[in-house]
Amino acid sequence: MKKYEADVAIVALGLSGLALSIAAAEQGLSVIGFEKMRITGGAANMGMGPCAIESRLQKKKQLTLTREEAFMHHMEYTHYAVDAHLVHDIFWKSADTIDWLMDMGVEFEVAPYFPKAQWTAHNVIPEGGGRPGPRGAGTMIKRMTERANELGVQMVFETPVKKILMEDGRAVGILATGPDGEEVECRAKCVAICTGGVGDNLELTEELTGVKPGEIEYFASVPGLKGEGLKLAWEAGAGRLPIHPEFGVGVHDNFNHWELEGAFRSKPELCVNMDGYRFINEEMSEMGSYFGNALHNQPGSVAFEIVDTARIKHLIKYGPEVLDEVHGDDFYEKFFDAAERAIAEPEYADYFCKADTIEELADKMGINKENLVETIEKWNDYCYHGRDLELCRTRYMNPISTPPFYCMKMILQSATGVGTGGIKINHKLQALTQDDEVIPGLYVCGTDGNIINGDTYDFYLPGLSMCFCLNSGRLAGEYMAEEING
Ligand SMILES: Cc1cc2nc3c(=O)[nH]c(=O)nc-3n(C[C@H](O)[C@H](O)[C@H](O)COP(=O)(O)OP(=O)(O)OC[C@H]3O[C@@H](n4cnc5c(N)ncnc54)[C@H](O)[C@@H]3O)c2cc1C
Repeated sequence: MKKYEADVAIVALGLSGLALSIAAAEQGLSVIGFEKMRITGGAANMGMGPCAIESRLQKKKQLTLTREEAFMHHMEYTHYAVDAHLVHDIFWKSADTIDWLMDMGVEFEVAPYFPKAQWTAHNVIPEGGGRPGPRGAGTMIKRMTERANELGVQMVFETPVKKILMEDGRAVGILATGPDGEEVECRAKCVAICTGGVGDNLELTEELTGVKPGEIEYFASVPGLKGEGLKLAWEAGAGRLPIHPEFGVGVHDNFNHWELEGAFRSKPELCVNMDGYRFINEEMSEMGSYFGNALHNQPGSVAFEIVDTARIKHLIKYGPEVLDEVHGDDFYEKFFDAAERAIAEPEYADYFCKADTIEELADKMGINKENLVETIEKWNDYCYHGRDLELCRTRYMNPISTPPFYCMKMILQSATGVGTGGIKINHKLQALTQDDEVIPGLYVCGTDGNIINGDTYDFYLPGLSMCFCLNSGRLAGEYMAEEING
C-alpha cells in the first residue's frame, strides 16, 4: 500500500478542489489532492466563467448590482429554502475571488446571459486573447493549476478515492486506488469531498431525482462525474438532502447541430407540446431553467419549436433579435444549409423536419395534428391583433404562414456538474449527520455541496455554479486552517 500524509486531503481536483488546494496552501497547510482523471478542472474546463458581485470589473463598467440586492433577489428566488449564511458568504467572497484569480493571470469579460439576467458572469478570456466562450474557463483551470503547483500542492492523478477513513466519528484520511491498482492511503487532519456531482450517472440521477434517463440528455457529459462524492459522504455518516438537477432546454446532439441550436435554443419561437398545445410564454425560453421546468411537465418531456421561412429570411436580413454568449451571431445565415444537412441525416429525422404544410409537419414529428392546426390558427390570429390572449406574450410575435415550415424537437438537458444538493452541510462547508451534528474533519465543496440553488438553478445570476465552486473551495481552505491551526 502506498502511504501519504498531509494536513489536507482533497477528493478530486476539479474547480472546487483546486480552489481549496490553493486556499489551504496559502494558509501554510500541506495539501494533497487525489484526482480520478489525468487532468485538473473537471467540468469547469467546458465552461465560460464564474459569477461575482461588486467586482472591480463590474464597477469599471458602471454596473451597480450590490451584494445586498443579489442576496435579497436570490433568497426570494429560492423562497428562503436555502442556507442564508452560506449564500451570504459565497456572494460576499465572490468579488475578492475575481481579484484572486486575476492575480494568477486570469482575465475576464463581464456579461449577462440574456436581457433580464444580471451582468454577473465573469467569462474567461482564453489564453492568447480572443472571445470568451465555451471551454474558455480551461484557461482559468490552467492558471489555478500552475498556482497550486507553485505552492507545493501535491497532485496524485488517476487515483479515484474509494473511502473516507473515519476514526471516532472524525474524518482522518482517505483510501484510493492508484493507476496500477495499488491501494493508496492518505492520513490527513481535514478531508474535503469535491467530486462534481452526479452529471455522468443517469441511473443515480433517476434514483435521486425521479428524472428518468430517457427524459434528459446531458449535453456535455464530462466523464467521471458519477456521484461518488455523495456516496463517500453518506458512507462516512453525512445526512442526505433532496437533489435537484438543473434543467435546461436544447437540441439533441447539439455540438453537431450548432447553427440549428443557435436558432432554436433560448429563442422566442412558437413552441408546442406533443398534444399540439402551447405551454409557455415563449419569451421565457431565454431563462433556460424555467423553460426546463415547464418542459419537464409536458408529455414525454419534449416540445417542438416551429418557424416559417419568412421568419428565417427576416432574421437573416435584419439580424437576430436575441443573441447569446455561446452561439456567435451568424447562425441564421447558416440556417438553411444546416437545415438541409440535418434533414439528410436519417437518424435526426425524429428531431428536425421541414414540411410544406402544418399537417405534414405534425405527421413527421408525431404531434397531434388537429390540435396543432388549431393552435397555429389561434397563434396567427394573436399575431395579427398583436395580443397573445393565451399565454401573454408581448414580443417577437410572428405568424406561422410561409412554407416551408421548420420544426425542431426541444429536449430536456442538463450540463453535467450542475446540480443542487445531496449532502447535508452547514454554512462552514462541514458535513453534517442527518441529525445536524458536525462530522469533524469532513468538508464538502463545489457541486457536491451546492445547496444554495433550491429547486431551480438561478440563471438570473449567470455563473452561479462556478461561483459556488470557487468560493466554497476557498472558504473551506480558510476554515480548515482555523480548525488545524486554532
Ligand atoms: C458544458 C458546461 C459548461 C458550463 N459552463 C459554466 C459556466 O460558464 N459558468 C458556471 O458557473 N458553470 C458552468 N458549468 C458548471 C461548472 O463547470 C461546474 O459547476 C463546476 O465545474 C463544478 O466544479 P466541481 O469542483 O464541483 O466539479 P468538477 O469541476 O466537475 O470536478 C470534479 C472532479 O472530480 C473528479 N472525481 C470524481 N469522482 C472522483 C473520485 N472518486 N476520486 C477522485 N476524483 C474524482 C472528476 O474527475 C473531476 O475532475 C458548466 C458545466 C458544463 C458541463
